[in-house]
Amino acid sequence: MAYAGPVRPTDNAAVVWRPVPAGAARITGGPLAARQRNNRTAAIPAGLKQLHEAKNIHNLEVAAGRASGEPIGPIFADSDVHKWLEAAAWEYGREADESLLDDLLALTELLAAAQAEDGYLDSVVQLRHDERYSELHMSHEHYCAGHLIQAAVAYSRTTGRTELLDVARRVADHLVATFGPDRNPALDGHPVIEMALVELYRETGERAYLDLAKHFVDTRGRATITGGREVAYYSDRVPVREATTVEGHSVRAVYLAAGAADVAAETGDAELLAALETQYDSMARQKQYITGGLGSRWDGEAFGDPYELPNDRAYAETCAAIGGVQWAWRMLLATGKASYADQIERMLYNGILSGVSLAGTEYFYVNTLHLRDGFTPDHDRNPGRGRVGWFACACCPPNVMRTFSSLEGYLASTDADGLQLHQYVPGRIEAGELEVSVETEYPWQGTIAVTVDAAPAGETAISLRVPEWADGATLRTIPQAEPGEAQGSSTGSGPEAVAPGGYATVRRSWRPGDRLVLELPIKPRLTRADSRVDADRGCLAIERGPLVYALEQVDQPDGVKIDDLRLDPTGEITEEVRPDLLGGIVVLHARGGVVRHDDSAPPRHDHDHQPDPAAEPVELTAVPYHLWAHRGAEPMRVWIPLL
Ligand SMILES: [Zn+2]
Repeated sequence: MAYAGPVRPTDNAAVVWRPVPAGAARITGGPLAARQRNNRTAAIPAGLKQLHEAKNIHNLEVAAGRASGEPIGPIFADSDVHKWLEAAAWEYGREADESLLDDLLALTELLAAAQAEDGYLDSVVQLRHDERYSELHMSHEHYCAGHLIQAAVAYSRTTGRTELLDVARRVADHLVATFGPDRNPALDGHPVIEMALVELYRETGERAYLDLAKHFVDTRGRATITGGREVAYYSDRVPVREATTVEGHSVRAVYLAAGAADVAAETGDAELLAALETQYDSMARQKQYITGGLGSRWDGEAFGDPYELPNDRAYAETCAAIGGVQWAWRMLLATGKASYADQIERMLYNGILSGVSLAGTEYFYVNTLHLRDGFTPDHDRNPGRGRVGWFACACCPPNVMRTFSSLEGYLASTDADGLQLHQYVPGRIEAGELEVSVETEYPWQGTIAVTVDAAPAGETAISLRVPEWADGATLRTIPQAEPGEAQGSSTGSGPEAVAPGGYATVRRSWRPGDRLVLELPIKPRLTRADSRVDADRGCLAIERGPLVYALEQVDQPDGVKIDDLRLDPTGEITEEVRPDLLGGIVVLHARGGVVRHDDSAPPRHDHDHQPDPAAEPVELTAVPYHLWAHRGAEPMRVWIPLL
């Protein structure tokens, strides 16, 4: 069933590309398919159990008059239920299942029962008998409404049913009646309602929802969110269309920007889109880790100043990378610029996959790039504790679930000219009359073979992203042979060089069996950070294809500490295929050294610039960063000091 996935621009939207229906894209193999399987069979069932145990669902039962007690958990407790609902709804679209539908219907019925007469729905605020919206800077009432609306849109698109959409529309109608020009001017401290209202407009055609989203975007950045933290924390210091960078709480900032991108698309607002391009560029250049991680400060879960990217105190919340993908996808559709698809790849394969275990049921909230020798696991989010099953503030787990269950929505897009492939997975994609299948061992190997299974009459373009790191990439066109003709003998091309950082496009009259073979040079490479990032100066990182690598204690020689290791950049880096390790990976070995410090000597805060002791040669072993801490949470680092 070709159900619509997330982000469905209307016919009038100012976008260059449009997503293919999520149900028309399939991931049939490779590591992302394995992640999706575990998400469905392990994470989503475990998530529902956690929502019962943590009492999120209990709160709704009390609000519905079916149980008694005080509200339990954070003020935004409902939002985790909504995100779980969204994940389950996308899963239902991927593969219909009666028990999943039963769970969706039961929770939907509970939400309807908990909803107030006038459409208001936020169980914690209802049970506390707080005055509604009196503390909107911290109450997350619009945030919870936004996640409910997103769940309802997913539910509507995948089940074709309206029960949850009816609840969400009553919530949205209540918001429209309460907020906006000439009504309550207050803004929620935590964005997400903007994206949600635009998607609800797309799903229902109700213009008032788009207008309210636009109002929230237009009025933010005027320092009106008072009573809590500094306005920068809420992205309320600079008007959205005047801002030149991102600041404050990183998840809030990227959710706001994604919502603003939706508003820009649906209102044809080129000025707003241009401002968002500037902000994105600033973020990617100055405020993003090599892993795609966003938000370098624990304090306020916030973006730092430009180039303030400490590795050992990196925050890089899993939710921030997820929000980054949501923003980048909207920018990709609006602009057609390959850099946004590159960004999605970097955040997905490093910043998001790191946030969840291979089994799917343990999570990192914080995605550090360096866990030091002698670390203290001093906080429930400290990565030294390893991935855990749930958090008191459980925003990340259901966010991961809904991302995996809607992943097909980010693979490809179409325009009048043809099909664009942005992310490479074994799978099938239908775009109108054009159907293709993709075979690849990506991200481990760089051959991507696209076979045309069905094609419309006349010329159609197929565009393949060539990542910015893929220097030396080539593309071959191999037409299906006519009877009696050797394959590729007549009109096919030999390998042609294609430029990295863009799309390689082949336009022709396709016939079933025609093939395109893209060869991306996947080999280890050393990456240097901008020299203004003090934390990375004198260091290099190892990358291979889209994957960032890391040194983990468990892989190094006995008695060698992570923080004593040095990398020899002149040495060859060798590859070792390890089907037995961490689900099957490519391990890298590099030449390096270990510096044996004499800790009985006086502390080295002196001024005579003693050199380090000479390094002893040692082989360094690196594994994909996103898989670290599967063999215990032991010291690890991404950026490696040079010999
Ligand atoms: Zn989170």
